[in-house]
Amino acid sequence: MPVSSAVTDLLTAIPALKMTRNEPLAQYTRFGIGGPATVMCDALTPAAFEQALAVVRAAQAPQVVIGGGTNLVVSDSGFDGVVLRYTSAHIHGEDTLTLRVDAGAVLQDVVDHSIALGLKGLQTMTGIPGSLGGAVYGNAGAYGKSIHELVTRVEATDGARMKTFSNGECEFRYRESVFKRHKEWLIVSADLQLSRGDPEGLQQQAGEIRAIRDAKYPPTMKCAGSIFKNLIFAELPPGVQAEVPASAVREGKVPSAWFLEQAGAKGLRRGDIQVATYHANLIYNDGNGTAADVKGMIEDLKRRVRERFGFAIEEEVQYV
Ligand SMILES: Cc1cc2nc3c(=O)[nH]c(=O)nc-3n(C[C@H](O)[C@H](O)[C@H](O)COP(=O)(O)OP(=O)(O)OC[C@H]3O[C@@H](n4cnc5c(N)ncnc54)[C@H](O)[C@@H]3O)c2cc1C
Repeated sequence: MPVSSAVTDLLTAIPALKMTRNEPLAQYTRFGIGGPATVMCDALTPAAFEQALAVVRAAQAPQVVIGGGTNLVVSDSGFDGVVLRYTSAHIHGEDTLTLRVDAGAVLQDVVDHSIALGLKGLQTMTGIPGSLGGAVYGNAGAYGKSIHELVTRVEATDGARMKTFSNGECEFRYRESVFKRHKEWLIVSADLQLSRGDPEGLQQQAGEIRAIRDAKYPPTMKCAGSIFKNLIFAELPPGVQAEVPASAVREGKVPSAWFLEQAGAKGLRRGDIQVATYHANLIYNDGNGTAADVKGMIEDLKRRVRERFGFAIEEEVQYV
């Protein structure tokens, strides 16, 4: 059994940790898909998060950390192990340009908080759902900006110790970080360096972005945002570069939606899993979709692009 009763006994004894069994993960993912977690733990303090991780790692039980579940495809059979969430959501730093934010904070709350304080830098990330921890892990961003431009320091734990990562040590790249490649480190908090701005102007910019985003991703849509990463134009095979119109290249990147559209992705359907008719890189759950159908659709889309263009597109979405 991947999670023994000795492990659950130890987890139950950790202060500020809430443990549940057979928790349906569908309710923790924006896709609304996913079977049960054998054990789920919500850690409210850094100590609880670290101790839970230490217990699980010592027992060599399967473990995964989730945030807001907005970039996840969780298997229909769930996760036979321990799903950890860090739910501490404090935002510190009222009087400075640096906010220290707990990984469990909702990114939109951080954006709103920064705007209210007249701090500039996060306003273009308005409407990106999920937690601060998830955003740092995947170097989330939009409108030409990514969170790595603001991060000066990340605190993370491997269950044995807390470690501080500088921006350079986070090894950020487009939708990449050291935490994606070294899953032993779980993010506890991040420092974000902002600058002075005018709250009204920032609010207006955020409001305009929000309206555009809400039209593209209606708030009730069961999805994970963009399924595939965009492509760096300079890294594409020369033959493919020649096919991409200049108008499709933005800030050195080609949206994977462009390739998907050429490959006939728009409007495809598999069970209740639908590719949007207006956006080829947006797959949503149009009812009672399954992870098997999401996975099947993703494989079909990858195959179509490979056959049409001869290269592979890569998922942004993460699997559990
Ligand atoms: C409608 C919609 C629009 C979106 N638009 C954008 C966009 O414009 N730009 C963009 O970049 N993304 C976008 N996304 C994707 C998603 O919002 C981001 O990837 C987000 O940062 C994920 O955060 P989360 O807390 O939900 O992470 P989850 O989905 O819960 O997890 C994602 C990954 O992060 C890891 N993780 C989470 N917390 C931690 C932690 N504390 N320590 C270590 N690893 C952790 C998980 O293990 C998992 O691998 C969109 C998603 C949706 C649904």
